[in-house]
Amino acid sequence: MKNPESDTTWAKQALRDAALRATAARVAVLKLLASKGVPMSHAAVVESLHEFGFDQSTLFRCLNEIADAGLVSRLDLGDQTRRFELRKTREGAEVTHPHFMCIDCGELKCMEDFSVRITPSRGPRRDKLGTITEIMIRGHCGNCKTA
Ligand SMILES: [Zn+2]
Ligand SMILES: [Zn+2]
Repeated sequence: MKNPESDTTWAKQALRDAALRATAARVAVLKLLASKGVPMSHAAVVESLHEFGFDQSTLFRCLNEIADAGLVSRLDLGDQTRRFELRKTREGAEVTHPHFMCIDCGELKCMEDFSVRITPSRGPRRDKLGTITEIMIRGHCGNCKTA
């Protein structure tokens, strides 16, 4: 983390904007997600914040509260693990990138440098699909491909 103090200020402000009280656990979780920059599971959050003494259930509640408030999105990437990712960067940009998961090692990457456009063909059926919230791409990551 480059500047922990400004991270705390940012996290508190983000919570206030979402009408949530800036509890220590919520601030810690937001700062963690911002610093990692990849979607994290509850287990990974618990492990990363272990040294600060937050217990599992506090963090679980906290993740769901900030997700319900719209600060993070819940990603279900098809491997039975729910992950949480910030919906906006610290700079306020909406997070819309697709994700890449390696089918060999399970590593998950944010495809921030890619843009994927799905353009439906015309016709009445395109409306029935609803809203796309997640684009998930699978393949072999660089490490597994060469192994
Ligand atoms: Zn891999
Ligand atoms: Zn991502």
